[in-house]
Amino acid sequence: MLRRSFLGVSLGAGQVIFNDTATQAEVIVERAYPGRPHAGKVLAAIQPHSDDIPLFAAGTVAKLIEEGYTGYLFRMTNDDMAGPGTVGDTALANERDNQQVARVLGLKKVYDLNYSNHQMDQESKLEIRARLIFLFRLLKVDTVIGYDPWGHYEENPDHYVTAQAVESACWMAGGGKDYPEHFDAGLKPHSVKEKYYFSRGPQLVNRIVDISAVIDKKVASNRVNLAQGPAGANGARLRRSLAEKGLRLPVLGDNDESASTNYIKHILLQRDIDTGKPNGLAFAEPFHYIGPPLDAVGEYIRKNAVPLR
Ligand SMILES: [Zn+2]
Repeated sequence: MLRRSFLGVSLGAGQVIFNDTATQAEVIVERAYPGRPHAGKVLAAIQPHSDDIPLFAAGTVAKLIEEGYTGYLFRMTNDDMAGPGTVGDTALANERDNQQVARVLGLKKVYDLNYSNHQMDQESKLEIRARLIFLFRLLKVDTVIGYDPWGHYEENPDHYVTAQAVESACWMAGGGKDYPEHFDAGLKPHSVKEKYYFSRGPQLVNRIVDISAVIDKKVASNRVNLAQGPAGANGARLRRSLAEKGLRLPVLGDNDESASTNYIKHILLQRDIDTGKPNGLAFAEPFHYIGPPLDAVGEYIRKNAVPLR
């Protein structure tokens, strides 16, 4: 690996493309595909908390589902530290919100792994990884969307512990010797081939996904996050608090629903607007994308092999 420089190209909202001294990350703009080119493929949207995918990747998830993927939502924690009422009230409210996130995005099923909120760094990394390997094999997951294990300045242990477990489980799930009892139970080795990693802080960004056509689904997935996070009904609360001071924001409209929805779309998701703008897009999500490994030997053979005689 060549030495990296942090003198990058600003994408706005703290996003930076890391320049390598010899090679610069090429940024691909992934646009909407017509039809259902991903039919038959499976994705797992993996979030420690009920608001992570909605905030950072719901547009891409909705786009891939519309393009044919079957999708599942994994929630790693019980979310009992962020929400209203007692600890029990909070856990239940987030569980319900998370089900709504899956419904809005068209995801087939939720898996709640139920680790303790904010405390995933005390859990066995091995157990988390083993559970993910089982699920990747069981569901035949081709693509994951989750936190970037190389994202910088992440303060929440649930985020970085999950990210590292996902990254290692993606390749180990394809092994023929890890957890051989899975094979006796009918599973087969199945590696994850594509990864869309997002980050709250600076990360290597090599893919921008155009989510303009599905922005309303992204907004809806944030609108149902009522228990925690910056979205939910915060727009309505802001509208009312401004009115008490004799002020209004025209973008919020004239009722609670328009306020909550427009607050998310036009104020909260500023990062998506900033990411899209340099690329001529209304809304876009940035990712560190990792695709299938190049078949260098196969490519060499295709270019150079000649008939035996
Ligand atoms: Zn989170």
